[in-house]
This record gives sequence, structure tokens and C-alpha cells, in this order.
Amino acid sequence: AKAGDIVRNTLARIEAEDARIHAFLSVNPDYTLAQAQRIDDLAASGASLPPLAGVPIGIKDVLTLEGFPATAGSKILEGYRPPYTATAVRRLADAGAVFVGKINCDEFAMGSSNENSAYGPVRNPHDLDRVPGGSSGGSAAAVAAGMATATLGTDTGGSIRQPASFCGVVGVLPTYGRVSRYGLIAFASSLDRVGPFAATVRDAAAVLGVIAGHDPLDATSSPLPVPDYAAALDATTGVAGLRLGVPSEYFAEGLDPEVRAAIDSGIEQLRAAGAEIKPISLPHTRYAVPTYYVIATAEASANLARFDGVRYGLRAPESNTLSAMYRKTRDLGFGAEVKRRILLGTYVLSAGYYDAYYRKAQQVRRLLTDDFLAAFREVDAIITPVAPTPAFRLGEKTDDPVSMYLADIYTVTASLAGICGISVPCGKSKTGLPIGMQILGKHFDESTLFRVAQIVE
Ligand code: GLN
Repeated sequence: AKAGDIVRNTLARIEAEDARIHAFLSVNPDYTLAQAQRIDDLAASGASLPPLAGVPIGIKDVLTLEGFPATAGSKILEGYRPPYTATAVRRLADAGAVFVGKINCDEFAMGSSNENSAYGPVRNPHDLDRVPGGSSGGSAAAVAAGMATATLGTDTGGSIRQPASFCGVVGVLPTYGRVSRYGLIAFASSLDRVGPFAATVRDAAAVLGVIAGHDPLDATSSPLPVPDYAAALDATTGVAGLRLGVPSEYFAEGLDPEVRAAIDSGIEQLRAAGAEIKPISLPHTRYAVPTYYVIATAEASANLARFDGVRYGLRAPESNTLSAMYRKTRDLGFGAEVKRRILLGTYVLSAGYYDAYYRKAQQVRRLLTDDFLAAFREVDAIITPVAPTPAFRLGEKTDDPVSMYLADIYTVTASLAGICGISVPCGKSKTGLPIGMQILGKHFDESTLFRVAQIVE
């Protein structure tokens, strides 16, 4: 098929579906069709095609593409046009991908439901009254609704895995350092990761293979070589003999019985395929949510200090002094959740409280990481739920930020430990809502995640 035809179909699908789903913040059909035309010209010239030639891909609006909007879901970046392109985005373009649009998300990726976007929420394609998850809800919904073959999202505390679970698609959290953060508008730099969404494990593996790898523009990016994930999957030997750990702490109080049943049936599938299922313990799990919300807000308060009305996007009019201009710009430009986190973050970093909160959280982060390192001496990967429930209703948790934070219980642990993870569909609720299984792997062992996930999908 011609890239032009594929991409025209995808653009028509966006036109037809996105009025109700609202996954896209900006589309630019002229640019998209010109990209596709270049692929078709290349094909006509007889040249060999790059690995993602003509594949329609959407980009979460926290990642930059030179000359295009990058709002991060915030009013404070309205009108901003980045003068550079994120490395992950650049690598997709070099691999022949065609960009169909920039995608809606929670403001600065802060949220679990997409309801914190300054541009309005995304709706779950499986039930329009429910959230798609967050913060990369638009990226998950776009794939689920056929408006992109793959998308990029970001995951700081669950923002790829949880929306993938809510929307019934595959989402990958690469190991910290695997994918460059260059060109990602930062939320919490020690936790932020860029990763793919796709309808199948193989597609997700193919996209990760393209975006992964060392980048001198990100000092935390790893020099380790990147395996050919997709080729390895094609040659896969299944999961016979693989040891899979099931941590008791993730199956305790608060887990919806339908989610539990779906994960249990996924585990039975893996057992039937020859995996050895072992009960394990990750004893510090109960400290993960408070630890995450101290570290993430502390880093966010530092990262967001750059949005001052001078350097980017919005500037509030009619201020007499510089400090009044800063104040008014931030008051108008930031939403309630972002303000809440800046306040929390500056509080936990303040001189009198640093030891009690920030330093303590760093110490607990080490303990949580050691839990995983100990477990990975016994098992090759770990199986858990992604979220305590399937997708909840729009508005259900907006009045209670703490209840929203607590629902991140199963995802923030891997974020703090820097390990990799994947969310793969493993069942449905009685009402037809998708349920994902989370598989967690050792640092830089994404290959094992793909092997295990392919049995379950
Ligand atoms: N839900 C978490 C939060 O609100 C995670 C967000 C993310 O991963 N970007 O911080």
C-alpha cells in the first residue's frame, strides 16, 4: 500500500472519531501528507525503505517537534513553538514514520485521568463516559480508536502503563536511560521516561527498537547497545522455564475482583505455556505512593520554575512589576493540579522540612529499588495488576486528589526503581472495559517483557 493512502485513511479516521474522543490537540494534514509523499517517492525510486516507512504515529504534546505546538496540556505553553525536535521523535522521523498529530495529555503529565488537560479531557473509546487514564490518555485512546498505528507517551509514575490498561492497548515503560529524554518537557527528571503505545506487542517492540539507544544530548541516557526487539520476538522461544514472580503486596485489599480474575487467568496462561510461577514479596510497596509524590513534586517544582512569562508561551498582560508579571502569568497559565504540586514540591524541599520529607523519600526510594533487585535474583520478571480498577467515570475522582494519587499504587514502584515494564491487555470486565496486566523486568531487560507479554495478548 502507498504511504499516502494509509495516512489519508488515518487522517479520515481522526476527522470522523476525534470530535468525540478528543485525543488530538493539533493536526497538520499538509505536513503529514508531505511526509507520506516523501516515503512514496523513495519507494518509487527503488530505494530500500526504513523500518517504519509510512507508519502513522501520534506524539504526546510534552515532546517537541520543531515548529509545531508543544503545549504539554498547559495554557502556559499556548503559542510556544519549540526550535528543536525531541530525540525519540527525530528517530521516528528518520525511520520513515509519518506524524499524524500532537496528542492531548494531563497538564505537564500530572494526572491519572487526562482530566487535568487545560484543553479538555480525552474520552475512553470503550466507554465515552469514562476516562482513558493518564497522563498519556490521548496516546492510548488514539491507538485504541485506530487514529494512529502507534503513539509516543511518557511515564513518570504510570502514565504509559495505566492508560494502556484502561484503553486495551500495549504500553511500554522502558528502563530509565533506555530512551533519550532530550526534547521532553520535564516533569520529574529522575523518573520521566518516553515509551511507545501500539495495538500489539510486536508493534510496540518495533517502535521501541527505533527510539531507544544512547543520545549524547541526554546525560542520563545509557550507552548499552539496543537489541533488535522485534526480530528477537519473531525468533521467540516462548516462556518455558522462565521464572515469573507474583508479589503478594499487589494482590491485597483494594484490588477490584474483576481485575484480580483477569490477572489470575493471565497467570494461568503463562503457567500453561511453561513458565514457573513463584510467590514473592516486595515488602516496602506500601511506602511507594507517598515516596513518589514527595520526589515527583519536588522535581516538578524545580523544573516548572522556568515558566515565568519571559522565556516561553504565555505572558499575562498589564503588570507593573516583574514579580507581578511572574505571579499573574503563573496564576493564569497553570491549572489547579500543577499549582498544588508546585506548592507541595517547594514545601518538601524547603530548609526546615528537607530532611523530614525529601531526604527521607530518597532513602525509601533506595529500599524500594533493593526490593526489586532482591526479587530479580529469584525471578526473571514480575506479574502484577496495572491499576486497582478498570477505567473510572469522568469526574469520579476529580474532587479528591488523594484518591487519584492512591490509584497509582501498582505503577509508581517501578518508576522509582528505574526498572522496565509493560502493560498488556489480559481480559475485560463484565461491562466490556479492558484490563491490563503489568509485567516488570530487570534494568535493560525489555526483551523478556515482550516475550512474556506476547503469550498474554
Ligand atoms: N499519575 C501519576 C501522577 O499524577 C503519574 C503521572 C505520570 O506518569 N506522568 O504523577
